[in-house]
Amino acid sequence: MSYPKNYPIQVITATPIKVVKHIPKETTVTTPYLEFCPRCQATIMTSCFHHTGTCWWIICFTGVFLFCWPILFFLCCDSSKDVDHNCPNCGLLLAESKKAGC
Ligand SMILES: [Zn+2]
Repeated sequence: MSYPKNYPIQVITATPIKVVKHIPKETTVTTPYLEFCPRCQATIMTSCFHHTGTCWWIICFTGVFLFCWPILFFLCCDSSKDVDHNCPNCGLLLAESKKAGC
């Protein structure tokens, strides 16, 4: 099977897809702030999510085994928790504030 000589040939050109990997920044700010979201291409006010980080869990379990019960108080404090700054529109993690260092 062959095509006729005057058969129109379609040339399809693919445009390369630009893949950008976003790496969240380290910050010390624990309150919402203005940040540029690369996914939304807009400047937004970040939404904060406080959570207990991995290092605090390790410190607390170590403290419990060493009978340092008052260390459990820090699990309840927002000031000792890690803070994630997310975009309120798309949910992209823009920055992290880690309190215990890991
Ligand atoms: Zn966004």
